Amino acid sequence: MSAASARPGDIPALDRLLQQAEYLALAQTYGHSQLVAALRAQLQGLRERALAGALPPAELAVAQLAAATGAQLARRNAPRLTAVYNLTGTVLHTNLGRALLPEAAIASVLRALSAPANLEFDLDTGARGDRDDLIEDLLCELTGAEAATVVNNNAAAVLLMLNALADRREVIVSRGELVEIGGAFRIPDIMKRAGARLLEIGTTNRTHAADYENAIGPRTAMLMKVHCSNYAISGFTKSVPVAEVAAMAHAHGLPATVDLGSGTLVDLAQWGLPKEDTVRETLQAGADLVTFSGDKLLGGPQAGLLVGRADLIRKIKKNPLKRALRVGKLTLAALEPVLALYRAPEHLPERLTTLRLLTRAQADMQAQAERLCGPLQQALGEAFQVRVQAMFSQIGSGALPVDQLPSCGLTVRHQGAGRAGRHLQALQARLRGLPRPVIGRVADDVLWLDLRCLQPQEETDFAAQLAALPA
Ligand SMILES: *Cc1c(COP(=O)(O)O)cnc(C)c1O
Repeated sequence: MSAASARPGDIPALDRLLQQAEYLALAQTYGHSQLVAALRAQLQGLRERALAGALPPAELAVAQLAAATGAQLARRNAPRLTAVYNLTGTVLHTNLGRALLPEAAIASVLRALSAPANLEFDLDTGARGDRDDLIEDLLCELTGAEAATVVNNNAAAVLLMLNALADRREVIVSRGELVEIGGAFRIPDIMKRAGARLLEIGTTNRTHAADYENAIGPRTAMLMKVHCSNYAISGFTKSVPVAEVAAMAHAHGLPATVDLGSGTLVDLAQWGLPKEDTVRETLQAGADLVTFSGDKLLGGPQAGLLVGRADLIRKIKKNPLKRALRVGKLTLAALEPVLALYRAPEHLPERLTTLRLLTRAQADMQAQAERLCGPLQQALGEAFQVRVQAMFSQIGSGALPVDQLPSCGLTVRHQGAGRAGRHLQALQARLRGLPRPVIGRVADDVLWLDLRCLQPQEETDFAAQLAALPA
């Protein structure tokens, strides 16, 4: 046993430590029981080291012990859900929470969190209300639909629509549209769970009007189109436009439905973004019901929106699944102000955070990259080379997969011997270890940090924490 080591008998008793001011303060913050559990584990560790003759006596000072207990408790109680910097270049990144909400929505959510609200209460009559009423008029105004409802996400919207309108009947879908969205959303699986029978028609690359026509029979519930979202078919292809599918459906007295996925309310081409059919255009083309997400291009909270014919929406709202999939007040509090922004479309690029990020000028990101290149190089040292580099961002979340947005950012390359991939992996881990983790992407032995989603008001904090980069 080393003479320099403390002995087990030197370790203060748990009960005595708990009386000390430092520990009383920790109990105040973390509560008695988790403090005792943490301290007990700590003292056990010290005992083992004392028995092994490897415990410096200085570690047993109360201040020292309390600092260690406090650090352990702080780690244990750090929030699991935490803000990160999304420098992946994918603006609507599903794993990083998709759309960032505009100021108006944030204020509205705070109000709904801290005070009772008229969630299901009609302020005109004093009678019980319907939570959908809060946003139905707005959705109808913005899309031209007769009626609208909202559920937890678009996957839920599709499930609910199929169960309400096609239970134990057939839904005709082109093989070119049987998509998997990721995170286990696959059209054929959802169809099964909804109790509907999928009738596949056409081929992967080509589906014709006659394929729909020939498939319609006595058990058909609807003709459905699904936005391809995260992939594109090019070359020898054919799909049938919504207008034609709707006309065929209507000729047989059937509804035509469209899962638009991302779903936009305005023509994005006016801001130089790729053209997508809007929800209004899809309804005008003849769709009876359209489903889309709240947190993709719409730029709002996670939600699934269903808009279309009043009789179909009524049927959907009566389905018991609607109750199971309904949204909470926080979602509605966020959704209403986001939708309201669309009443002044010319101001959307300043007011709607998602659109502001999607329309940022490349020069803006380049100026930012030039300011941050030096600080990052300084933080990383000579082992890495940092450069300002033009790059391309993506919209993400299955919106417009093949279109890319000119952007700018920083690239990091490993200098010298050794496997660059391993060094870059370690560097990514260090960046994730920052107080606000930085998430980039590695491709071709280069770490790419796209600055599109580093908002100007965040830049100072971003640069400041680089200095604290863990080794
Ligand atoms: C994204 C998407 C969905 C799923 O929407 P969530 O809001 O993520 O549940 C469904 N269908 C299509 C076509 C999509 O693009």
